[in-house]
Amino acid sequence: MCGIVGIVDTGGVSFPLYYALYALQHRGQESAGISTFDAGTLYKHKAQGLLSEVFDRDILEQLPGSVGIGHVRYPTTGENRPENTQPLNFSLKGHHFSIVHNGNLVNNNELVSEYEEHGHIFATTTDSEVIAAIIARELTLSGSMEDAIVLCMRKLEGSYSVVTLLDDTIFAFRDPLGIKPLCIGKTDHGYMVASESVALDALGAIFIRDLRPGEMIKIDKSGISCRQITKSDHTAFCLFEYIYFARSDSVIDGVLVYDVRRKIGEMLHQEAPVGADIISPVPDSGTSLAVGYSEASGIPFKEGLIKNRYIGRTFIMPTQKLRENAVRMKLNPVRGHIKGKSVVLVDDSIVRGTTSRRIIELVREFGAREVHFRVGSPPVTAPCYLGVDLPTRKELIAHNRATDDVCSCISADSLHHVSFEALIEATGIDAADFCTGCLTGCYPVKIPNECSACRHVDFIHGSYQTRLDF
Ligand code: AMP
Repeated sequence: MCGIVGIVDTGGVSFPLYYALYALQHRGQESAGISTFDAGTLYKHKAQGLLSEVFDRDILEQLPGSVGIGHVRYPTTGENRPENTQPLNFSLKGHHFSIVHNGNLVNNNELVSEYEEHGHIFATTTDSEVIAAIIARELTLSGSMEDAIVLCMRKLEGSYSVVTLLDDTIFAFRDPLGIKPLCIGKTDHGYMVASESVALDALGAIFIRDLRPGEMIKIDKSGISCRQITKSDHTAFCLFEYIYFARSDSVIDGVLVYDVRRKIGEMLHQEAPVGADIISPVPDSGTSLAVGYSEASGIPFKEGLIKNRYIGRTFIMPTQKLRENAVRMKLNPVRGHIKGKSVVLVDDSIVRGTTSRRIIELVREFGAREVHFRVGSPPVTAPCYLGVDLPTRKELIAHNRATDDVCSCISADSLHHVSFEALIEATGIDAADFCTGCLTGCYPVKIPNECSACRHVDFIHGSYQTRLDF
């Protein structure tokens, strides 16, 4: 997962890009970058680290221009190396080209081989560079960015929400199944695209709509136009965005993520009620779930754990030992709330089980009498090939393990995962329009040696181009 943004507006976009990326920091903490274009020059700055470590006022002031794109990175394909930071920037026959990408291609290796055959040299190990290579080649041949993007979409397999800058114009497109989010907003004097609506909120921009799966948009100073490139029988939006990844205050597909999570919490209570003294979230991801559970059960919501907000996600710790210590640094139990109490802890997911086990141990150390664990997703039993950093089957605690076994591994008094049906009901969206690969082991695109339920995608002939008036 990554966070991406593109803005065309008057009066300089570097600060707005920075604020928008700040709202998307949860989508990636490994690196950050911004490119802007002004009077024939591409200005760029990117580095590893959090946004606040990468940028300061002086740097942002040196990024002039009324068009720009930005990225926060969470690596899936391509190691955490300086050259893999985005935007990727190129010059091409007198044009400047910059690209940011959220997603994961599943045919990256084939495409790299194909383009190496054409003599292309790759400077990074990210799949995003392949997208740039395809667009660059087709743009050189046809001279049309629209045609280059259509051809690129014919070649790419996997998930991709992409924002590019070609001189003073932004082009953005979303894969035919809409696996990763991307939405459009109206700023004071222009337009923007961003991974989540919270980035629009940060700028006071007005939400227009999500980019449709298989849609391309073009934004320049004369306005915004859109073109539908593909149509498919079903989409495959990443269900994990609703479970874990997106911010609760984001609206995706017309649905407030907070409401989905609160409903999941209600359903967790209906499916597995427990007579307890307090309902406590594992912060922050469990908060809206715990609110729902508490409302439905009538048991008081009380924070049994307080998070130190200045520590990054424990998941990025490379070793088991570091991960275990990091939990203690990050979450401190509130003894006065849990001592002698029966506590329901609510979290969004269990992946390796490391954090959950450590949290339950901590809560017991601080005096809880019973710890019941409630989880806002069904067991994660399969890896993700489409952009969420999940480990292999072997490392997933629920792979080949019954819930009772997982319950003893994490040393809870009871454990319940929300059912798949209840989770889908909470979203109000058809199950066939989600990618549920990590929960079902069945993927919406072809992946070698995995089960797939591929969606049927058609490219629209004689595509139309319409202005998006607002
Ligand atoms: P664990 O008990 O080690 O499996 O960790 C569970 C915690 O990891 C939950 O609190 C989740 O919010 C969080 N989590 C789930 N998926 C991811 C992910 N892809 N990246 C980082 N953290 C995650």
